[in-house]
Amino acid sequence: MKPDLVVCGLGPAGRALAHRAVVRGLTVTVVDPAPERRWTATYAAWADELPDWLTPEVVAATVPRPMAWGTRAHRVDRPYVVLDNARLRIALRFPDAEVVADRAVDVAPGRVRLASGVTIACGRAVDARGLTRSPARAEQTAYGVIVDASRCAGLDPLFMDWRRDNGAPSDAPPSFLYAVPLDDERMLLEETCLAGRPALTGAELRTRLRHRLRARGVELTGAEPVEHVRFPVQGGRPGSRRFGAAGGFLHPATGYNVGAALASADAVAAGQDVWPAGARAVHHLRNAGLRALLALPPEDIPLFFDTFFTLSPAAQRAYLSGRADLGGTIAAMRSLFQALPGPLRRRVAAATLGIPVRSRGRWGSAMMVP
Ligand SMILES: Cc1cc2nc3c(=O)[nH]c(=O)nc-3n(C[C@H](O)[C@H](O)[C@H](O)COP(=O)(O)OP(=O)(O)OC[C@H]3O[C@@H](n4cnc5c(N)ncnc54)[C@H](O)[C@@H]3O)c2cc1C
Repeated sequence: MKPDLVVCGLGPAGRALAHRAVVRGLTVTVVDPAPERRWTATYAAWADELPDWLTPEVVAATVPRPMAWGTRAHRVDRPYVVLDNARLRIALRFPDAEVVADRAVDVAPGRVRLASGVTIACGRAVDARGLTRSPARAEQTAYGVIVDASRCAGLDPLFMDWRRDNGAPSDAPPSFLYAVPLDDERMLLEETCLAGRPALTGAELRTRLRHRLRARGVELTGAEPVEHVRFPVQGGRPGSRRFGAAGGFLHPATGYNVGAALASADAVAAGQDVWPAGARAVHHLRNAGLRALLALPPEDIPLFFDTFFTLSPAAQRAYLSGRADLGGTIAAMRSLFQALPGPLRRRVAAATLGIPVRSRGRWGSAMMVP
């Protein structure tokens, strides 16, 4: 019998969609080359992004008011959560779905063609296969270590810390420190390149992390478990047949996607339009935000985030999470723009509008912003 829905890809987005569809009583088939593959990434989100249907046990750790640093300290008045992958996968179970271990090679309306040659006919097919890497796409990279919390005395949880104590030259593409608890006993300490084309390498980020942690009294032994991060932040296309990173849910200027996918899974399962005109406009604005970030000279980045984190909590939330909140996104971008220092404002305006900007050295390798 034809399933109501085929979900291609079992990352956080695909699993969330399959789960909500089964809960709704749909017949579901899921396709992934490795359906049982464990998630090794540390996933985090803002607490208020998580949908009500998700059990609180999926939260491994909560940071009630994370710290953010540009050149100075800011408290972010918004709880941030680190997810427990094993529990999240259990919460996103889809007991009655048919699981197919294969690669979807063509996801079309009403049918999915698999690498094995099989074609599955269905009521609806959704592509949640994530994003493939390409030199044309900006990426986020990071190098992280997992350290006993007892060794991190004095290190507050950090949403981002752009201070320049990581040993990088002042004209080099910048990176920030991300520091979150994984549970009561362990912290993840990660040097992160927010976006670059090309992004900083893992080796460079490792060197910076070691330098920075040494400066803060945390000496690494080399025996710490490591997290490598590399994923495209561009390339998702909004539309009713795609979901998660593949479907434009990944915020290109931050790299976050899990919270947005969890929040929208129910509506997508119900076949609702999750890309009204306002959401599509927000998608374009967020891409403009990424262009601005890629265009800024390294020394401007901490100032940019100083300004961002002085915005009201509502404005910060609208920009970071208001996927369909066009009014809130515009208001946040306007407030940010007005609060930026003059020269930085001009560079951000030009980059946002896609006007070529000559700068002294940027995150990306080319000198002109397309
Ligand atoms: C180390 C790391 C840490 C991250 N941390 C965060 C975070 O804290 N918060 C956050 O929001 N985001 C984070 N991200 C970004 C993250 O990639 C995405 O948010 C999330 O994984 C995207 O979910 P997704 O389900 O859309 O796609 P993916 O997770 O990329 O899943 C795609 C799935 O599709 C499957 N697939 C691929 N090709 C095919 C095919 N041909 N047919 C069928 N199936 C296929 C894959 O096997 C995979 O299971 C992180 C990424 C990394 C790498």
